[in-house]
Amino acid sequence: MTSPASGSSAPAHSVASTNRFSHIATAPPDPILGLGEAFNADPNPEKMNLSVGVYQDSSGKTPILPSVKAAEAKLLADEKSKGYLSIDGLPDYRAAVAQMVFGNSLDHKRLGVVQTPGGTGAVRLAADFLADQLSPIRVWMSVPTWANHQSIFNAAGLTTENYRYLTVDKTRLDFSAMCDDLRTKTTPGDAVLLHACCHNPTGVDPTADDWKVLAELFAERRLMPVIDFAYQGFGDGIEADAIGVRTMLSRVSEAIICTSFSKNFGLYSERVGSLVLVAAGAESAAASHSQLKRLVRSNYSNPPRHGGAIVATILADPALTTQWRGEVDEMRRRITKLRSDFVEGMVRTGVDRDFSFLLDQKGMFSFSGLTAMHADELRYKHGIYIVGSGRINVAGMSEARMNHLCQAVASVLRGD
Ligand code: PMP
Repeated sequence: MTSPASGSSAPAHSVASTNRFSHIATAPPDPILGLGEAFNADPNPEKMNLSVGVYQDSSGKTPILPSVKAAEAKLLADEKSKGYLSIDGLPDYRAAVAQMVFGNSLDHKRLGVVQTPGGTGAVRLAADFLADQLSPIRVWMSVPTWANHQSIFNAAGLTTENYRYLTVDKTRLDFSAMCDDLRTKTTPGDAVLLHACCHNPTGVDPTADDWKVLAELFAERRLMPVIDFAYQGFGDGIEADAIGVRTMLSRVSEAIICTSFSKNFGLYSERVGSLVLVAAGAESAAASHSQLKRLVRSNYSNPPRHGGAIVATILADPALTTQWRGEVDEMRRRITKLRSDFVEGMVRTGVDRDFSFLLDQKGMFSFSGLTAMHADELRYKHGIYIVGSGRINVAGMSEARMNHLCQAVASVLRGD
């Protein structure tokens, strides 16, 4: 027998061969990210990507905001340690988030704020908290909603239900159907997921008056709002977009808000978001906060620092805050302008389809009313990528190529 000490390269023990993973089937690719990969591989020089979920400027790039670059320069100069953050993240960041969401509309002692890895991390923490502390609890969500919502709540072991949201042509809010479902199908104590503004994937939001009705309905039915706030500043403005959340909390004493700074700070890859729990009083807020920390500890332990530190740096510095607000306003104004350019461009094509509903939709996304068949034709005949549901990322439109886009949409609508 050869021993390892003899210098031979033969292994001392052979590998025990098991095949435990052999039955595992390949998971389906994410439908939207899969489209992005197909877009990258497409050699068509005229191609246009309206399917992704990130802001793009007029040159098709997802820029780093100058305010973010300035904050990063400060951080690079001043950062003293890469030690762990506490389980709930940076205190200054958490205070800034609470201020951004609520201003002085309620007593911040009623809040439990946890910095999370992105808005997705916040939604997952919300789901874990509901399952852990309020189970059994059903979670109602709009049809349609961000595709990840259902997966996340189901992954946490919760039952999900749907409420109606859109008119039959899928371009406007059917508010009476929404209220009817929430009034007649829910049970007191159920959780209801709402989008604070810039509903993804439709761009269709309740008005300020609708929020008053919803707040009344939630109070009456004792429903628990879980509000996903991923696009603050992209609808009507940073303050204006908080109206829904604040109106709800003027009538209901408890809620969970999930925020994301991926879009409004352009910090997609830094993973920066937060869960803001609102309790009826300071004591229950503190207890709930401690349970949230317990859930985080057994999941990812503590959040990444860099993105939260950028946000905290900007929001602690009045000049940087003003600069950043200006940058958010610029992104929002550009999206609004692209919406009207597209609507006008479609009128000029002479095609018999009114797109003016796009002007009432908010944020980066719009349900265009185009079908999966139209989406396929746009892709294969014109190199224009939209999601099969008809969702368009308006920020992916290009001022310079608006005519090409409108002609292509007109062509698929005419069935050329
Ligand atoms: N909620 C909604 C409605 C979203 O659209 C997104 C981003 N696509 C998120 C949450 C998650 O954001 P993040 O990238 O910060 O995880």
